[in-house]
Amino acid sequence: TAGLMTMGYAGASTKFEEGSHIESILPKKDRYARLTSNENPFGPSASAKKALKAAIDDSFLYPREYRQTLMSLIAKEEGVTEDHILLGAGSSELLHAAARVYGGANGKVLSADPTYTSLVRSAEMMGSEWVKIPLDKQFDHDLSTMEYKVKPDISLVYLVNPNNPTGKIMTGDEIISFCDTVSAKVPVFVDEAYWDYMENPKGSTTTACIKKGANVIVARTFSKVHAFAGLRVGYCIAQPEVIKKLAKEGPRNTLSGPSMSAATASLVDYEFIKYSVKMNNEGKKFVYDVLEKTGHDYLPSHTNFILFPIAMESEDFKKKMLAKGVGIKSMNVAGQDYCRVSMGKMEDLEMFADAFKQVISTKI
Ligand code: PMP
Repeated sequence: TAGLMTMGYAGASTKFEEGSHIESILPKKDRYARLTSNENPFGPSASAKKALKAAIDDSFLYPREYRQTLMSLIAKEEGVTEDHILLGAGSSELLHAAARVYGGANGKVLSADPTYTSLVRSAEMMGSEWVKIPLDKQFDHDLSTMEYKVKPDISLVYLVNPNNPTGKIMTGDEIISFCDTVSAKVPVFVDEAYWDYMENPKGSTTTACIKKGANVIVARTFSKVHAFAGLRVGYCIAQPEVIKKLAKEGPRNTLSGPSMSAATASLVDYEFIKYSVKMNNEGKKFVYDVLEKTGHDYLPSHTNFILFPIAMESEDFKKKMLAKGVGIKSMNVAGQDYCRVSMGKMEDLEMFADAFKQVISTKI
């Protein structure tokens, strides 16, 4: 500001040069423990923030070079050529594109239930039917029933691995064998949003099927382990002709230069990925312990959230937690109430633990 003042900018609009007016117009920061949306509070990484800032001065340019750099790095990391990749503003944009391509008026999208519903809901809005195959009693995918239900009228199979809201996985062998068989008949979309949290991500991804030529689409996001939920970066990998179809229906240069610059840095910041996973594991250990000590079951999670059954009506539970400043997601599955809690920072998880103990002891 001193510089601006001496250059003669001082005057009526000084506050605009200082940027001090932004405090009153930007969203207020949450004052509660937000454990609703599987965000990652341990980032973005220092390298991502540095790359983000480095790109800001170029914001007046269309971000061709930032796109190119990110595309070629993803291609290198995934071991495919660039025509196998499509970038989206978060994987949401790619799920929506897939719903447009495969979920038209006479479409039928087959998926497990419960699972993440963004793609199937978009498809339903476009007139498709959602063919739901319930998870089995252990909350695992019932892959044999799914395979059996894949008839020629199914237009897309959607799998989420690890699954949301359960945090459970299909092993590499299971899902690769399913995709190899089923994709010979129908395209299979595998949403690997939480993939990085798996013990053996490289051995569990279905990109292996794509490299063999299968009609499989894999979607990844930077929103989870890379902590980019607000920066909106995702990508998908598929056969070049599928990528062309998705691109036609979907994202057209929707990502910003700074976001792509940050993603380029974060993609290969392996130390940060390790750190994110480690902090997440510490959070899960803490929550498991709280649940065990209060006599609750839970599903051991391969993601950054934990699903567990509660002995209280789920909406009521959610409201009571919220009244104590803790946001969680609640749901009812097959008549049983559940809470899904995301891994926040330790102070947020401590707030969760305190609120949880009070809410369960005050149930009427
Ligand atoms: N897929 C799954 C399974 C998710 O849980 C989410 C977000 N919660 C998304 C995709 C969308 O995330 P984004 O658009 O931020 O990539």
